[in-house]
Amino acid sequence: MGHMASVVGNGVVSNGQASTKIRSYAPATGELIGEAPNTSAEEVRLAVQRAHRAQEAWGALPAEERGARILRFRDAIVDRSDEIVDLLVRECGKPRHEALLHEVMVVADLATHFARVAPKVLAPREIPLHLMKHRKSTVHHVPRGVVAVISPWNYPFQLPLRDAIMALVAGNAVVLKPSEVTPLIALKAKEIWDGAGLPEDLFQVVTGYGATGAALIDSGIQFLVFTGGVATGKRVAAACGERLIPCVMELGGKAPLIACADAELEKTARAIVFGGFSNAGQVCISVERVYAHRDIHDRLLDRVVELTRELRQGDPSQEFVDVGAIIFPHQIEIAEKHIADAVSKGAELRIGGERGPGPGQFFAPTVLANCNHTMTVMKDEIFGPIVPFMRVSTEEEAVRLANESHLGLNAYVYSADREHGRRLAERIEAGSVLVNDVLNNGATSDAPFGGIKQSGFGRAMGDDALREMCATKHISVDRIPMGEKDPLQFPYTEKSYAWFKKGLRLMFGGGSLAKRIGDLF
Ligand code: NDP
Repeated sequence: MGHMASVVGNGVVSNGQASTKIRSYAPATGELIGEAPNTSAEEVRLAVQRAHRAQEAWGALPAEERGARILRFRDAIVDRSDEIVDLLVRECGKPRHEALLHEVMVVADLATHFARVAPKVLAPREIPLHLMKHRKSTVHHVPRGVVAVISPWNYPFQLPLRDAIMALVAGNAVVLKPSEVTPLIALKAKEIWDGAGLPEDLFQVVTGYGATGAALIDSGIQFLVFTGGVATGKRVAAACGERLIPCVMELGGKAPLIACADAELEKTARAIVFGGFSNAGQVCISVERVYAHRDIHDRLLDRVVELTRELRQGDPSQEFVDVGAIIFPHQIEIAEKHIADAVSKGAELRIGGERGPGPGQFFAPTVLANCNHTMTVMKDEIFGPIVPFMRVSTEEEAVRLANESHLGLNAYVYSADREHGRRLAERIEAGSVLVNDVLNNGATSDAPFGGIKQSGFGRAMGDDALREMCATKHISVDRIPMGEKDPLQFPYTEKSYAWFKKGLRLMFGGGSLAKRIGDLF
C-alpha cells in the first residue's frame, strides 16, 4: 500500500510538486513494475485535436472496411495474448485464467462480433412515415467524432477496449484515460494498436490521475463512456452536463442472488463462490448479497463455506491460483469496515475476514452469515471478496429485499423451475437478471449491459449501444412532386382552415371510419 500514501490526488504528490509520472505496482508482490506519463491538460487537448483530424478519414470509410481493420487489431491481440496475460497477471494480480478468459477472450469476441454486425446495425434505415406519406424518411447513424473512454482498474483491458472498439467500429476516434492504478495495460493495448499498423492518432491513451480524466472531458470530445464508482460518476456526469456532452455511465453494482427453495444445491453453491470471488470480488456484477430461502439456506451456506475453503489464493505469476490479489489497496480497508460493521450487528464470520500475509495485497475470501439490511455489507457496494448471506422466509421477501437498493446493475435467481425463475427475474429491479448463472453477461457482446437507478444509464454492448456511439440523423426527401404551392404553408385562409378541421375529425375523431366520413357531409 506504500504507493497510496504518497499520492494525495489529482497528480500531486505529498511534497506538493506536480508529479510527471504515475507508478504502477504489482498488487501480488508490492514491486514497482513501471511508470507512465501523468498527462497534462494541455497534452490531453492536443491529443483530442489529433484524434479529430484522424477521425475524418476513418469516419468516411464504409463500416465493412473499418470492421476489417478492427479485425487486424484483434489478430494482433490474439497473437500477443501471452504478453497481455502476463502483464494483467502482474499489474492486477489476477489469475491467468481470468486474464485470458475475462479480458483477452472477451475483447477478441467483441471485436469479431461488432466488426461483423456493424455494416448491418449502422446501415441507414427507411422509416415508413404513417402520415407524411409523400416524403421518404431515412435514419442515418453518423459517427460522433471523438469518443472519450474513462475506465477503472478492475478489468483494465476488457472494459476500455470494449468501449473503444465499439466507438471505433462506429467511425469515431477514441481517447482513453485508464485508471491511475493500471496504466501499463492500457499502454500495452496502444502499443499493439500501433504495431498492427493502424492509424496512430485514431486511438490514443492518456495516462494520469483524475485530473487527466477531467481535462479530457473539457477538451472538445463529442461522447463519453465512463465506467467507475457512483461518486466519481456523479462528478463526471455533472461535468458532461455542463458541456452538454452525451454520456454513458457504467457505475457500481450490488447484485443480489436469490436462491429459491427448489434451487439446485451444488450448482447454486458453486455459482455463489465463483460469482463472489472471481477477480477477488472486484467486479461490478459480483454476487454482493445472497437471499436464501429458509428451506435451502443452511445446506447452501455450509456448502459455500466448504467450497470457499478449497480456494487457492496467492501470487498468480508463480502458480495457478483461483483467487488473486486486491488490485486497489483501499478496497482492503473497505472490506474490513464492512465486516466489522456486520459482526458488531450480529453477523457470523463463517470463513475468511483477514488480510493475507506478505508484502502483497491479499484478502481472504469471506463468507458472512446471519446478515440483514441494517448492515453496510448488505446495502453498499463491497467490491471485494465478501459474500454475505441472509435467510428469507418467502420469495416475496427476497424480491422486496433485492429491490431495496439504490443500485441496480445485475441480479441473479437460482431455481430448478426455469419459468418460475424467469418470472421472478421480471420483478427484480436491475439492468440484467440472469437465471441459473452468474457474471456471464459481462461477455455477451450482443446483449445490452448497464444499470438502472444509481448504477448508471446508457448501455454498453448490444446493437443499441453501437448505434449510440453515433449521432442519429434523419434525412427526409420528397417522394412525389407536390407543385409549387404546399397547402401546409402560407397563406392561411378560412377555406384551408375548414379543410384541416375536417381532416382532423376524419383522421382522429371517434367512431368508425364510415361514421366519420358520413359526418363530413
Ligand atoms: P473511480 O470512479 O474511482 O474511477 C474511474 C475512472 O475515473 C478512473 O480512471 C479515474 O482515474 C477517473 N476519474 C477520477 N476522477 C475523475 C474526474 N474528476 N473526472 C474524470 N475522471 C475521473 O472507479 P474505480 O477505478 O475505483 O473503479 C471501481 C468502480 O468501478 C466500482 O464502483 C465499480 O462498481 C465500478 N465499475 C463499474 C462497472 C460497470 O460496468 N458498471 C464495471 C467495472 C467497475 P484515477 O483512477 O486515476 O483516479
